[in-house]
Amino acid sequence: AQLDTLDLIVLGCLLVGTVAYFTKGTYWAVPKDPYAGSYSLANGHKAGKTRNILEKMDESDKNTVIFYGSQTGTAEDYAARLAKEGSSRFGLKTMTADLEDYDYENLDTFPADKIAFFVLATYGEGEPTDNAVDFYEFIRAEDTTFSNGGGIDEKALENLNFVAFGLGNNTYEHYNSMVRRVNEALLKLGATRIGQPGEGDDGAGTMEEDFLAWKEPMWTQLSEKMGLEEREAVYEPIFAITEKPEMKADADEVYLGEPNKNHLEGKQKGPFNSHNPYIAPIVESREVFTVRDRNCLHMEIDVQGSNLTYETGDHIAVWPTNAGREVDRFVNILGLADKRHTVISVKGLDPTARVPFPTPTTFDAAIRYHMEICGPVSRQFIASLAPFAPNDTAKAEMTRLGNDKDYFSEKVSQQYLNIAQVLEKVDAQSKWTNVPFSIMIEEIKKIQPRYYSISSSSLVQKNQISITAVVETIRVPGADHIVKGVTTNYLLALKQKQHGDEHPDPHGLTYAITGPRNKYNGFHVPVHVRHSNFKLPSDPSKPIIMVGPGSGVAPFRGFVQERAAQAKAGQQVGQTILFYGCRRSTEDYLYKDEWESMKRDLGESFVLITAFSRDSSKKVYVQQRLEENGELVNKLLQEQKANFYVCGDAANMAREVNTKLAKIISEQRGISVEKGEDIVKAMRSSNQYQEDVW
Ligand code: FAD
Repeated sequence: AQLDTLDLIVLGCLLVGTVAYFTKGTYWAVPKDPYAGSYSLANGHKAGKTRNILEKMDESDKNTVIFYGSQTGTAEDYAARLAKEGSSRFGLKTMTADLEDYDYENLDTFPADKIAFFVLATYGEGEPTDNAVDFYEFIRAEDTTFSNGGGIDEKALENLNFVAFGLGNNTYEHYNSMVRRVNEALLKLGATRIGQPGEGDDGAGTMEEDFLAWKEPMWTQLSEKMGLEEREAVYEPIFAITEKPEMKADADEVYLGEPNKNHLEGKQKGPFNSHNPYIAPIVESREVFTVRDRNCLHMEIDVQGSNLTYETGDHIAVWPTNAGREVDRFVNILGLADKRHTVISVKGLDPTARVPFPTPTTFDAAIRYHMEICGPVSRQFIASLAPFAPNDTAKAEMTRLGNDKDYFSEKVSQQYLNIAQVLEKVDAQSKWTNVPFSIMIEEIKKIQPRYYSISSSSLVQKNQISITAVVETIRVPGADHIVKGVTTNYLLALKQKQHGDEHPDPHGLTYAITGPRNKYNGFHVPVHVRHSNFKLPSDPSKPIIMVGPGSGVAPFRGFVQERAAQAKAGQQVGQTILFYGCRRSTEDYLYKDEWESMKRDLGESFVLITAFSRDSSKKVYVQQRLEENGELVNKLLQEQKANFYVCGDAANMAREVNTKLAKIISEQRGISVEKGEDIVKAMRSSNQYQEDVW
């Protein structure tokens, strides 16, 4: 049949529309790539990437996507584990997807024979993780529209089959709210959930076991629904590791720990963010405890010229380096010592696999700078290593550890062992050379920057960020080793070196202080800034009440510093009440002299109320001091709408302070405790009550 002009125009429009639809993201979506200058670009992974998940799944022949909303890497890690298991046990064609890398308008065209998993961590006060903010807002918005023009109705996602797991912490009020709310939103839009929404609880320390217990029934239900058949899981590596003996480790193109290409080429280029750290000079470092066996570091980090900005109450993230002792342990037990400086390239065997660090690199650099080798070990990881044990005895022990929850808990978790220590414990005589390096990259999460509440005021020192960090040292009862926090001991070594110690760190941890190719020489540390909602009132005449025992006082040093400067400049500053607690007034009393000098500027408006838990036979904590001062606290809250801030330990202190405040309000106002609790809840919702807890 002949086509007339109108037909041709219509066809032409359809063609343009179709091309536009299928290339959405590839060619014309606004790139939302926060990785500017990161290794992904350097390796070409991200360039020209589609934001259309269905297109991505089709082009890489996948039928299952595991989306993750992750802040510290654990949700990302669980997503990867589900992807691996779905593929090896059930033959699913799986891929993981960072929620911020895709658009969601076309979820309504997600076909019924494909599956979407959502692995979602809840962050802070029931908030989405940074990479899940857009998705969360989209899926819950009243005016959401999908690609077929459909809006919010109970059938919009009727073809979507999904599985959900959340990572939360029951010490926070909004426990696992991300997974709960997303689950609710998806069901409301007509999607079908398979299995129960899982909830892992970091607060109770049962995250891993919650995950393991949740996924078995989920897999059974998924198999039934999708007609999957379980098969014997055989390990298939995700990455190909190729040794390059022809390349020298010091060749220009070899990454020796540089986070991305700009850093490799020797010029740091902003914007600096969670994918691209700034190698910042440490201009000052000192010890602020006066006791021998515990350390707290005060550091001044210079961000001048970096374009990094901060506001009082923000966080700074420090990118750590693993201790040499632990890197040695890891390479030794795996039999990699002789070739630790051999150049390797790492490539995903699947187009959707993302290599978590830039290559070519060396074993040593990958382990030292990019892998969280000291972190807790999962039971499933141990089970997956069993087939690669050096002999039958070791294999039997690994299998037992992998299968027996209580045995694993006693021998591994309670001892705080890292992966190399587990392997040493099972068989230290043999080298575990059968373990594919790929499995280590897959199972060990990417090393995470650690956050610190900035302890300076941006008004007072715009370009210099202060940190107050307590050095983590845990003596595990019954264990023959001391657990040393990765980042804080690295900072401690930097401080010792800055103070002239040629061989920093008394624990023999031996850090590579000068960094890759000596790029951190002269005391530098990689950092970026994370903006927070923990903020002073914009009007300084408004009173504030702060509760910050231990290192929880960090942001309040910044708050008080700011208000002292405002007072000095002649501004009217409201009551500034700080509840601070520590063990002894003579040992770990942070910034004792500074409070006194700030008091000179603030005068009577600054009140410091201390609680020393070990100065007398009767233990006193900030919660009690709060109660003793209940009348004042209530008056400021009720009559002057004071802001109330809590910082520090999330597990106990913050919760108790919340309870105590409700009690104070109920007593002072002569109302029931339940009403007091409601008032505190309302204060939280209106930001009158703010928390910065960890
Ligand atoms: P890690 O190596 O991360 O160890 C931390 C803990 O993990 C250990 O104590 C142990 O409980 C556990 N762990 C480690 N390895 C194992 C293992 N193999 N098995 C079992 N368990 C293990 N801290 C401050 O001092 N000051 C601050 O101002 C501050 N502000 C913060 C603000 C925010 C928003 C957040 C989230 C945290 C803040 N922190 C602060 C805490 C800080 O980020 C770090 O968590 C802390 O310094 C420890 O880091 P690390 O690398 O030294 O220890």
